[in-house]
Amino acid sequence: MNVETREKLYEGKAKIVYETDRPGTIVQYFKDDATAFNALKKGTIVGKGVINNRMSATLFERLERAGVPTHYLATLSDREMLCRRLDIIKIETIVRNVVAGSLAKRTGLEEGTAITQPVVELYYKSDPLGDPMLNDEHVRMLRLATPAELTWMKRTALKINTILKPHLARRGLLLVDFKLEFGRQSRKLYLGDEISPDTCRLWDSRSKEKLDKDRFRRDLGGVEEAYQEVYRRLVTGEVSTK
Ligand code: UDP
Repeated sequence: MNVETREKLYEGKAKIVYETDRPGTIVQYFKDDATAFNALKKGTIVGKGVINNRMSATLFERLERAGVPTHYLATLSDREMLCRRLDIIKIETIVRNVVAGSLAKRTGLEEGTAITQPVVELYYKSDPLGDPMLNDEHVRMLRLATPAELTWMKRTALKINTILKPHLARRGLLLVDFKLEFGRQSRKLYLGDEISPDTCRLWDSRSKEKLDKDRFRRDLGGVEEAYQEVYRRLVTGEVSTK
């Protein structure tokens, strides 16, 4: 596809966003840079950008086929994705199937405890504030989204879980939790950002080995190998014998 990138609109921790010559679109460029703990920890995960770009594309395509509107339009190269240009809603929506990370800390439940009914959480997308947790009333107070938008976002987040969890399970991956971002274009809502080992917790179904960014956050080693393993299982379709 012949798309020209124009001005840089925004550079984030893991991606750069460019304007393009096609109105209403942007290009997401996926970097190898990794940060954690509100950018206190910084590093590089070699090859991550390529893996996150390809994995996100595969999953966005699957979600579209299942009726979830996403910002994904086309894969332009190893690290570049053409997307709809969204007005991003400043809420991170998290869905959880298994206790991990901040939920373990907040509740005292052991990491790995199964959750019978998936839990949806909302966080304020604000680096200076360190992404604090919000409830529906705070969303209303801050006018981050209308009640109808919030209802749609929560329902869509659960629908995405229903689609992705069994898909990943068939590839030997336990979808522990994941983060979503939504945005508006022409008064319609779309799923934005990315779906990758940066934004999901993925454990090997059998061994429960961590195959995601927690390997970087917690200095577990084998970070690149974990991303490659997820890529193999989800993108190239190889089934692991583990
Ligand atoms: N997550 C993310 N970006 C954030 C915060 C969380 O992608 O800014 C993802 C994280 O990778 C995990 C899920 O959201 O899959 C839940 O994260 P949690 O609240 O447990 O965060 P932690 O404090 O452990 O990073």
